[in-house]
Amino acid sequence: MESEVCHLCGGDGRIGNALGRSTATCPGCHGSGRRADTSTRFRDVTKTKASHYDRPAVAEAPKGPRTPVTAEGVQLAREVTESTVLADDAKARLIAEIINHESTHGRCTHTFMKKVRKQARPGQPNL
Ligand SMILES: [Zn+2]
Repeated sequence: MESEVCHLCGGDGRIGNALGRSTATCPGCHGSGRRADTSTRFRDVTKTKASHYDRPAVAEAPKGPRTPVTAEGVQLAREVTESTVLADDAKARLIAEIINHESTHGRCTHTFMKKVRKQARPGQPNL
C-alpha cells in the first residue's frame, strides 16, 4: 500500500508534457515520487507566549523627575554634587530637596539657593 505516492506524478517523480517527449521534475515531490507532505505535520504552537519572562531584569526608571529641571536647580545640584563637605546621603537629600522645591515653586528661589549653598559650601561667603 503506497499511501504516500505523489498524486501529481503517480510516483514517477516526473511529469511529461502533452507530447510525452520531455519530462520535468515533478513539482509536488521534487522527483522523489513520494508525497512531500509537510502540511499535516505537527505545528509548533507552543512558541507563541511565555518568552517575555526570560528577559533580563532591567532597572526600572524611578517615577517622576530625579534631576532638577530648571537651570538654577541644575546648577544648584551640581554645586551640591561637587561639594567636598557633604556626605553622599546628604547630597542625595539636598538634591531631592531641590527637585521637591522646584516642583512646588516652579523654580528655585534665591532664599532656597542660599540655604542649599550654605550647606554645600559652608566656607564660602554668603551669596
Ligand atoms: Zn510527484
